[in-house]
Amino acid sequence: MRLPPGVGSQEFSRALHQFEKTVGKEWVFTRDEDVALYNDAYTPFAAEPSRQLLASAAVAPISVEQVQGIVRTANQYKVPLYPISTGRNLGYGGSSPTCPGCVIVDLKRMDRVLEINDREAYMVVEPGVNFIELYRRFEEGNHPFLVAAPEPGWGSPVGNALDHGVSLVAGDNFGMAKGLEVVLPDGEVIRTGMGALPTRRLWHNYPYGFGPSIDGLFTQSNLGIVTKMGFWLVRKPEMQTSFSVSSFRSEDLQPLIETVQLMRDQGLLYLSTGGSPIRGSPGGGRRDSAGPLAPHASGAMTLLRKPDGGSDAEWDSLGRRHGVPVSMVSGSVRGPAKVVEATLDYARELFARVSGATFSRGASYRFPLDPQQIPPPERPGLGIPNLWIFTSVAMEATHGVYFFSPVCKATGEDLLAINETVRKVVLAHGSDEMQQHLLGWRMGVTVHAKAYVLAYDFPIFADADKDRRYREICERLMDACAAQGWGDYRAHCAFQTRVMRGYTFNDSALLRFHERVKDAVDPNGILAPGKSGIWPKHLRRQG
Ligand code: ADP
Repeated sequence: MRLPPGVGSQEFSRALHQFEKTVGKEWVFTRDEDVALYNDAYTPFAAEPSRQLLASAAVAPISVEQVQGIVRTANQYKVPLYPISTGRNLGYGGSSPTCPGCVIVDLKRMDRVLEINDREAYMVVEPGVNFIELYRRFEEGNHPFLVAAPEPGWGSPVGNALDHGVSLVAGDNFGMAKGLEVVLPDGEVIRTGMGALPTRRLWHNYPYGFGPSIDGLFTQSNLGIVTKMGFWLVRKPEMQTSFSVSSFRSEDLQPLIETVQLMRDQGLLYLSTGGSPIRGSPGGGRRDSAGPLAPHASGAMTLLRKPDGGSDAEWDSLGRRHGVPVSMVSGSVRGPAKVVEATLDYARELFARVSGATFSRGASYRFPLDPQQIPPPERPGLGIPNLWIFTSVAMEATHGVYFFSPVCKATGEDLLAINETVRKVVLAHGSDEMQQHLLGWRMGVTVHAKAYVLAYDFPIFADADKDRRYREICERLMDACAAQGWGDYRAHCAFQTRVMRGYTFNDSALLRFHERVKDAVDPNGILAPGKSGIWPKHLRRQG
């Protein structure tokens, strides 16, 4: 059996015995084949078992009281814990801990939907509630809401929101979270915001309460185990439709993005994207052994490999030859049908001012929907969670992917600048094969109104040398982007300490603050050591 860091085998056995007393023997997992279920299926160390972030055991409570009991035992024996909701955080570590040897606190059994409030459009859930089950509950109970699931939609609202996850329905899922219940590292339970009043009347209606708002302290952090969470819900609209606007001129990218962002600022769109399809991931298809390269790909790769990355004129001409736009934005509209139609008319008028642009209206969906009538890739954006994404990602002839996910401004200049920075790093440090995988623009998605979240996927090969080289280039990209203010919105466990080290303002004052809070709230350092690069005192600077 693997041991937690700094814990002897006798002490660990006693702790496990105590866990068994708290949750029942059948809910403490110590056999290798059981604990292996918590391994990261997409580990960047696939061929380096000694570097994998493996758990020592797992414990699955069913109540807040049991979570409190587990935390108290962990303090008594100094056993580090790593809480997960459903642990489907694939590409960012799955259900594996940031620090090897942690005991996973698996919250999947705490799967009650505590309230769905149709009138006030919010719900309260436990961490084990997953999106697909939630969809079933909404449909069976005729609740008029869309499920705000990411792709794939197998995780949980709580786990996703706590890791700053996103959806194509609500965008920033933590932005919809209102009111938390948290078991602190010493076992005490708190409710945030107005949930701390004697009655919970406004817990999920008003986000702040009185005094400092602390909900964010529990996201991407290691200061508590969240046991309940309220979420505002998105109502099913009468109609939902999208549009895209494309151009064969590079110079149109900036005005197109400005226009779509203007509509966002006016509150007319809930989502927009921007990018350059012709410059986008030309080699990506190569990883999929079944898929041929797109016809324009070799031309695009040649331009991306030129010292200047290809002039606008060269890209424009390549795009025209292959009929692939150089500049493109899209927007999504939902609401009453006549409002949607008026918004589309207005969009058409606005974009007519960008002379090279062509406006295209996407499919319109009228509610109620029949999921069978909707192509699987469209379903998550319409509030129907599914796993279709695996049909594209899992086909790849690799051992999975992890993500480098920086954020840039939702402007043409910034999108261009970050992609140029990435291109230069990949060209300078990547082999031919790596360039094939990593070169190319990623589409910017404005799940946050004024920023694009980008995702560069890094393939895993289960070849120690190759995987090391890919990790090195991922780290170089993290450093190069952080130096210019493009931080990651989220990072795989293996890179979190690296990412946090990029936050250097005033001698890393923010990290030092996190560490002070950590030491005060969790003096024994038992909760998720190393999460987001925040280590307890006794393990500090080891990450
Ligand atoms: P999902 O349920 O969507 O698959 P995860 O369970 O993988 O999400 O959670 C993502 C990350 O968020 C975890 O690795 C963990 O660090 C943190 N986390 C998840 N659930 C909780 C929770 N209930 N309390 C505290 N942290 C959590």
